[in-house]
Amino acid sequence: MAPLAEPALAAVNDGRIRFHPERSVKTYRHWMENIKDWCISRQLWWGHRIPAYTCNQCGKLHVAISAPEKCDCGTSVFTQDPDVLDTWFSSWLWPFSVFSWPEETAELKRFYPTQSLVTGPDIIFFWVARMIMAGLEFMGDIPFSDVYFTSIIRDDRGRKMSKSLNNSPDPIDVVNQYGADALRFTITYIAPVGQDIRYSNEKCELGRNFANKIWNVVRFRLNRGQAVPDWQNLDGLTAADLRPDDQWIIARLNRVIKIVTDNLEQFGFNDAVKNLYDFIWSEFCDWYLESCKSIFNAEKSADGTPAALRVFDYCLSVFLRLLHPFMPFISDELYHQIGFVSEDDSIMLADWPKPLDEEQLEALGACGDIVSLSEAKFELIRAVRNIRANYQISTSRPINVIITPATPEAEAFLQRDHAALQSLLNAGELHVGEKPEGPCGVAVSNIGTAYVPLAGMIDLEAEVARLRKQEKEALQYIDNVKRKLANPNFVERAPQEVVDRERANICESEEKLTRIREQIAVFGN
Ligand SMILES: [Zn+2]
Repeated sequence: MAPLAEPALAAVNDGRIRFHPERSVKTYRHWMENIKDWCISRQLWWGHRIPAYTCNQCGKLHVAISAPEKCDCGTSVFTQDPDVLDTWFSSWLWPFSVFSWPEETAELKRFYPTQSLVTGPDIIFFWVARMIMAGLEFMGDIPFSDVYFTSIIRDDRGRKMSKSLNNSPDPIDVVNQYGADALRFTITYIAPVGQDIRYSNEKCELGRNFANKIWNVVRFRLNRGQAVPDWQNLDGLTAADLRPDDQWIIARLNRVIKIVTDNLEQFGFNDAVKNLYDFIWSEFCDWYLESCKSIFNAEKSADGTPAALRVFDYCLSVFLRLLHPFMPFISDELYHQIGFVSEDDSIMLADWPKPLDEEQLEALGACGDIVSLSEAKFELIRAVRNIRANYQISTSRPINVIITPATPEAEAFLQRDHAALQSLLNAGELHVGEKPEGPCGVAVSNIGTAYVPLAGMIDLEAEVARLRKQEKEALQYIDNVKRKLANPNFVERAPQEVVDRERANICESEEKLTRIREQIAVFGN
């Protein structure tokens, strides 16, 4: 086997064949550098019988595709070897024998070599290494360029699933209970590259809940009718047409297109589904969809389709295409329901989404500080929601909110975002300005401070105690970072940007502390 192993080892060592995860190469090398000759016969009933024929008269051995007609000794009575070939002896020919090799068929030409082989890490040597050896020997070329090793699925006690343990669920039962997409998505979600996973049916709830979430997004959208005609792109829209939330979601969607495409190119299926999950759940649904409610629920504006509707459709169409490899059924169904394709077409035939380039993003205003400003705004909204929770003010009860912006840039941003902000805060009145008179609930984020007047419903002592706690936390944080920066080991060894970031953190926290103390002073009086 050594002459066969040598070129096969070289093909992986020089990168003509790549393994995912890369550390599987170590196992491969171990086998190929310690190659042993291969006993190819097995004493089994099923299998390819070994084509070796012994002459009944003189005992001469003939190896041929079919039994020879006559032996040199003149007889024509032979006995074929009773053994069969080792399973892997036929399997190692698989990449070309299935295309009628040694005939030079069109299929062989088209599919040899192929691109990706997907298999289990437990047969790196038995199958993968041998296909590489056979390919190089008989075809003179590698059989594939990438090998992806899947996780091995174990039961929730860590045991390999097997027929004898009877511990593997029937996929049909799981599909009936949770859905085919839910099963497929969940398995991908819980399987990091190269690691075994522990599976139980209950884990499929994650995929089912995700499918429900996407289904409900489309239900919500369909309240405003079918897809707008120009959902395919954002051509012709400018920054002036868009709200900050539109610009923010365009920037985030663009990021997710790039990341998921990159994940797939790197065989990071698990990373890809996590990125899609986080995008639709924590960004699109939690914030963008909520921000669109006030617009979608309003009467259709006289000057035609609101830009937000088009941005919404563009995002949804891109997202469904990115999701399609992982949830093929629901993505195709929803693509039809909303009207992105006609009944006789399919999302399967749609192009893979491409990110917008820098120039397009700039024209739409989906660049620069829009992401950090938006995220600071969301932080502020969360903080105001906490005020509601702290004072047990129902989310359905409108409150008045006054926001003091942290910077002139933040002020311009908040002014521009007035309508969405008012809706997300459920604010009866929303003003950008100075702190109002009287006791207030106070929410602080990098974009500014929000005041919720509490006249008539405040427990003064509790409010002061809460601020004292925040003050203590800020002081502790500043103290910790300062101690870290005073440590020469940290300052000398950490990258400069990390040190700079920590210094900036101190500044930000000190500003926050000042604002907290101002509030304490107000309530203390
Ligand atoms: Zn003979």
